[in-house]
Amino acid sequence: MARVAVVTGSNKGIGLACIRALCKQLKPDDVVYLTARNPELGKKAVADLEKEGLKPRFHQLDISNKASVEALRDHLKKEHGGLDILINNAAIAFKSKDPAPFSEQAKVTNGVNYFDNAQAYHILSPLLRPNARVVNVCSFVAVMTWGKMGDDLKEQFRKLATEEELNTIVNKFIDLAAKDEHTKHGFPGTAYGFSKVALSAFTRLQDRIFEKDTARPGIAVFAADPGWVVTDMSSGSGKKNVDEGADTLVWLAMRPEGDLEGRGEMYSDRKLNKVFL
Ligand code: NDP
Repeated sequence: MARVAVVTGSNKGIGLACIRALCKQLKPDDVVYLTARNPELGKKAVADLEKEGLKPRFHQLDISNKASVEALRDHLKKEHGGLDILINNAAIAFKSKDPAPFSEQAKVTNGVNYFDNAQAYHILSPLLRPNARVVNVCSFVAVMTWGKMGDDLKEQFRKLATEEELNTIVNKFIDLAAKDEHTKHGFPGTAYGFSKVALSAFTRLQDRIFEKDTARPGIAVFAADPGWVVTDMSSGSGKKNVDEGADTLVWLAMRPEGDLEGRGEMYSDRKLNKVFL
C-alpha cells in the first residue's frame, strides 16, 4: 500500500526541507503532502520542488484553525484511507526585539506551539495506520529551558500521567506570566522554550498511549530537534542549512517497522537527547 506523509508548516524552512527529503526517500507511489496556511505560498513551494523533479501534493493547513485541520483529515480519509507519517513542524517564535509583553508572548507562543499542535495531532492521529511514525518538532532549546526550571516544576513534569495535567501546567505558566509571577514559581523566562518542553512532554504522553494500542500496533511518537538552522525563524543565523536540519526529523519518520528505540523521547543529530532528566 502506498504510504502517505504530511508535514505541517512546510511552505518554507525546515518543513519544506522535510518535504524534499521525504519525496526523495519514499517510493514513487507514496504521497507527500506539503501543507501551508497560505495556499499561494504553499503552491509556490510545490512549483519550486517540481523544478527539482519532485512531486509533492499540496493541501491547505492552518493548525490554529480547527476547521482547516478537519478539512485535511477528511481529504486524507477520502483519498487515502489513512496516514503513515506526520511531522508536526509548524511553530512560531517572537523575535528577541519584539516589543510584545512577555504575557502576550507566553500566551500566543504556547497557544500555537503547544495547544494548536496538540489539537492538530488529535484530529489527524485517528488516521494513523499500524507502524506509522509521528515526529513532533521540538528543540535543543527545550533542554536548555529544562535546566532553568525549578525542582518542583521538574518533578511535576516527570510525574505527568495525563494530557489534562500537562494542559493545567501550561495554562498555569500563561496565567502566571500574565501577572509577571512565572519565575517566582519555578517557570522559565522563555515562552518559546517552555512551549517546546510542553510539546516534548506531550510526545511522551501520546507515545505511551500508542505503546498500549493493540488495534494499531507499531505506531511511535518521537520528538526531534533539528539543531540551530538558518531559517526565517532564526533570522538567518545558525549552524545548519535546512536540509541538515531536516535530517533527524526525516530519519525518525522513516525508521522501519519495529525500530522503536527511544520512542517518546527527543532525538538530536540522530541520537537520544532526553529533555526530562
Ligand atoms: P520558519 O519560521 O522558517 O517556518 C515555520 C513554518 O511554520 C512556516 O511554514 C509557517 O508558515 C508555519 N506556521 C506557523 N504557524 C502556523 C500555523 N498556525 N499553521 C500552519 N503553519 C504555521 O521556522 P523553521 O523552519 O526554523 O522551524 C521549523 C520547526 O523547527 C519549528 O517547530 C521550530 O520551532 C523548530 N526549530 C527551529 C530551529 C531553528 O534554528 N530554525 C531550532 C530548533 C527548532 P508561514 O510561512 O505562513 O508563516
